[in-house]
Amino acid sequence: MSTAIVVGAGIGGVIAAVALQRRGWQVTVLERAPELGEVGAGISVWPSAVAVLEELGVKGVEKASVQAKPAGMRKPDGRWVVGAADLGMELPVMIHRAQLHDLITAEFGPAVTVRTGYDVRTVTQDVDGVTVNGELRAELLVAADGIRSVVRGALYPQYAGPRYSGFTAYRGIADVDLDDGGGETWGRGQLFGFARLIDGRFYWYGTANRPAGTKSEPTVFESWHDPLPRLIAGSEKILQNDIYDLTLPLVPFVQGRVVLLGDAAHAMTPNLGRGACSAIEDAGALARHLGRTSDLSAALTAYDAERRPATTKLVKRSRSVGRLGQTENPVLCTIRDALFAVGGKLVALRARR
Ligand SMILES: Cc1cc2nc3c(=O)[nH]c(=O)nc-3n(C[C@H](O)[C@H](O)[C@H](O)COP(=O)(O)OP(=O)(O)OC[C@H]3O[C@@H](n4cnc5c(N)ncnc54)[C@H](O)[C@@H]3O)c2cc1C
Repeated sequence: MSTAIVVGAGIGGVIAAVALQRRGWQVTVLERAPELGEVGAGISVWPSAVAVLEELGVKGVEKASVQAKPAGMRKPDGRWVVGAADLGMELPVMIHRAQLHDLITAEFGPAVTVRTGYDVRTVTQDVDGVTVNGELRAELLVAADGIRSVVRGALYPQYAGPRYSGFTAYRGIADVDLDDGGGETWGRGQLFGFARLIDGRFYWYGTANRPAGTKSEPTVFESWHDPLPRLIAGSEKILQNDIYDLTLPLVPFVQGRVVLLGDAAHAMTPNLGRGACSAIEDAGALARHLGRTSDLSAALTAYDAERRPATTKLVKRSRSVGRLGQTENPVLCTIRDALFAVGGKLVALRARR
């Protein structure tokens, strides 16, 4: 049986392990954290990623999630920019991260071994295989060790890596009683979004321009329209993450027998809600290419040729949407909101024809 090591057990690492297992590989997952899990926040999963999860045999995603509603976009005072009419747009499902992680790891069979509390410090390779920390060996290594990937750093020491976006993100899960479809509210230099989860609670996120490394509270939203202040007040815990993406051009996702996957390869700002979805699609592509040929090098080359251009586009688009959402220029904000309003009407008109 072919052997693989997966570094990192975030969403990218665990779905990569399932994908390799489905192709008949013996997989060892190495995770630095003392136990498996995900943070307390929601996540949007787009139809293309749901399709890959199904293809890889991950069951129950639809049941554990709520179809996002075409809820539109508001101004901080609550006025609609684009209404809640059905715009005929493709929409994601919303799920709790821990639930998605659990659904994926539930598919681990005897071919997958997980070692938690294991810190990968060195990776070396020769023609026959890859060695981790001078002690573990496999034919293939999938680096799913996140935006600050140690493995990527070893492969490409000159690469600039993470780039600060200029904004921080707050996230929470609120236990409040609401009759609101959710959606996003865009202000000047800040935006806020929320959506219902399957258990009736609400996942929310907000962003604000801040210098990197500044601990802050989402107080800027206290004066925004109902129910935003209630969502924040109704959350037991608020997460704060400064938002980074990876410097463009991205490095090649494959070097010899080492493959980069997920944020290690293409971390993007969360403005399109596509980072984890892309990790899932990476895993689907890896499984597909490994299934097409027994030539490992050819399969990995095909993986890089498919995934690097696709995710480069998403990194660029996420960055652009992030800039638009975080602009503090009042003229640009007015033009932006007007364009969204007109765009929304055109889409609605076309959908009615
Ligand atoms: C505010 C916010 C909102 C987001 N919303 C969405 C969304 O709605 N939809 C979406 O698709 N994406 C979203 N994303 C992006 C998504 O969270 C990431 O793209 C995704 O979680 C990346 O998964 P990953 O497994 O590649 O990396 P990570 O989740 O970073 O996992 C890496 C794992 O590797 C482990 N590790 C690191 N180094 C080592 C080492 N040396 N040895 C062993 N283990 C190691 C870490 O402990 C970690 O468990 C959002 C991101 C943010 C910040």
